Amino acid sequence: MIQDQQDGRHVLIEKVPRGLFIAGQWCPAREGATFEVADPADGVVLTRVPDASPEDGIAGLDAAYEAFPGWSQTSARLRADLIRRAFGLVTERSEEFAVLMSLEMGKPLAEARGEVAYGAEYLRWFSEEAVRVQGRYGANPEATGRMIVSQHPLGPCFLITPWNFPLAMATRKIAPALAAGCTVVIKPSELTPLTTLLLVSVLEEAGLPQGVVNVITTTRAGEVSEPIIRDPRLRKMSFTGSTPVGRALLEQAAGSVLRTSMELGGNAPFIVFEDADLDRAVEGAMTAKFRNIGQACTAANRFIVHASVAEEFARRIAERVRRLVVGRGTEDGVTIGPLIDERAVTKVGLLVRDAVERGATVWAGGHPIEGEGTFFEPTVLSDVPATARILSEEIFGPVLAIRTFADEDEAVRVANSTEFGLVAYAFTESLSRGQRMIERLESGMLGLNVGVVSNAAAPFGGVKHSGLGHEGGPEGISEYLTTKYTLTADPFPADSI
Ligand code: NAD
Repeated sequence: MIQDQQDGRHVLIEKVPRGLFIAGQWCPAREGATFEVADPADGVVLTRVPDASPEDGIAGLDAAYEAFPGWSQTSARLRADLIRRAFGLVTERSEEFAVLMSLEMGKPLAEARGEVAYGAEYLRWFSEEAVRVQGRYGANPEATGRMIVSQHPLGPCFLITPWNFPLAMATRKIAPALAAGCTVVIKPSELTPLTTLLLVSVLEEAGLPQGVVNVITTTRAGEVSEPIIRDPRLRKMSFTGSTPVGRALLEQAAGSVLRTSMELGGNAPFIVFEDADLDRAVEGAMTAKFRNIGQACTAANRFIVHASVAEEFARRIAERVRRLVVGRGTEDGVTIGPLIDERAVTKVGLLVRDAVERGATVWAGGHPIEGEGTFFEPTVLSDVPATARILSEEIFGPVLAIRTFADEDEAVRVANSTEFGLVAYAFTESLSRGQRMIERLESGMLGLNVGVVSNAAAPFGGVKHSGLGHEGGPEGISEYLTTKYTLTADPFPADSI
């Protein structure tokens, strides 16, 4: 069912271009196929977008390949100005982006507004970085020649984004790629393609030349992506999504020794030491766990709390969690929206049931919410045994699971006992313990007495199975550049002096 034309949602959806964007043209999929985009709060179909075929995907790469020589030769200032204009336009239209994200993936409107500010910041940051790409010149140690080290854009890039942060995941890749002088084909998640389409229309308005950004929306992710990844004209893939899909894509990339950036899954530990400021830890926990309905790669997954404060922590958290307001993200006062789909509700339910059957105590919630939409009660579990699946799998839902520890060594051992290593959180009032956590916790990022770390100026990335490379910060643009070393002959050969 296409939603009622009178429905307020319709007005906004009408502003979103519904086409593939290839070589500067909005066009249908070659086979004319389309797919539905639905609102997870009630299942209503918002609109339909083109369902690209593998040929459409290659047409996107053709366009990016043709546009690369011209775009890579533009001045950094021209690229910086274009990206900065896009920042201004996204900021001006922030309410449209916020409502659109809330509609297509369910996040509460206040959080969606936060994502617009955060996502736009990548445009501003990389507009500033575009003009700061530097090289070096100097004598080699033997003074027999001069070494020049220069940075060059890699070439056409393939960007694949997930559904959980539809705007920020796109700007975090597009902005540094464009700033570096690369051209791109972007494939958003089939669950949330509309935000990327609106973003690209804004880039078009900012003056984007033809073929520099191409967008492919499709339900045939694997079939469409593989020929692009295996094409020798492609020079870079940047993927954000789950670890199993990331692994499969790395195998495909190995064939052409493709440069890759991989932002994959997490299983973040959140350690509360006995010397923590509990008010701060509770505040941090609420953000680290319940932001984005628990559907963040940086979501705290395992609460590892000192036995002496575990009960007090659980009591205070449960009090706060009972006050969360579940509902449609666009409604006033709602703090917890729906999960992305039925599959997610089933998975979260199974993880909770497994923990409870193994002896966990339920302080709040614990069940899916019956009726329209894909809602799950915000849940707090304590005394979760080490064997429970919820402590080893990414929950991706509003469930806070607590286990205890006795001393610092045990906390660190438990925190590191996972193949993931994206982010960790530690709460302690001891400076030296905090410093030890920086060195001992195996993660690409650490929140010390804070529950959210993301920032456009910081290098976001994981270790172990959580990924390769960084997005954001000065590191973010280098993912789209290659370093070239040139040796020039000694300009002062002995007989010339
Ligand atoms: P997903 O891996 O299912 O999908 C991610 C993207 O990959 C989507 O665009 C999807 O269409 C595409 N895809 C799926 N199968 C593919 C295939 N065979 N070939 C090519 N593309 C394919 O992940 P998701 O469910 O969209 O997102 C949730 C996951 O993303 C979680 O594991 C989360 O931790 C992770 N994530 C990581 C970060 C990070 O920065 N590390 C950020 C956000 C989300």
